Amino acid sequence: MSNPTLWGNFRPLWMTGTAACDWLEDAPHENGGYYNKCMVPQCRADFIGHKRRHVCRRCYMSAKAVYDRMTPEERVAHDRKIREEIEQFMRENAHCPSVGATKDDHDN
Ligand SMILES: [Zn+2]
Repeated sequence: MSNPTLWGNFRPLWMTGTAACDWLEDAPHENGGYYNKCMVPQCRADFIGHKRRHVCRRCYMSAKAVYDRMTPEERVAHDRKIREEIEQFMRENAHCPSVGATKDDHDN
């Protein structure tokens, strides 16, 4: 798939989002052409990309632009905050088998 407009021509009508949401750079990969839904709550756009992507390209790029404008100190603080959120999520969901631990591992 070398034609960058190819997917634009194949976006089904039911898909929300725009071609800006699609990850054209995933196209050469074996699993690069999946229909996914963006997990950003305010977005939830359908997009085309690798089967393991969870965020559309438009949301990724806007978040990246914010990150790129941060000072090194702001990035350290941001990364620490995100890490704490992930650790809190893992603690709160430790009983859920899909998070990777059993209830017995963490109760008492
Ligand atoms: Zn999105």
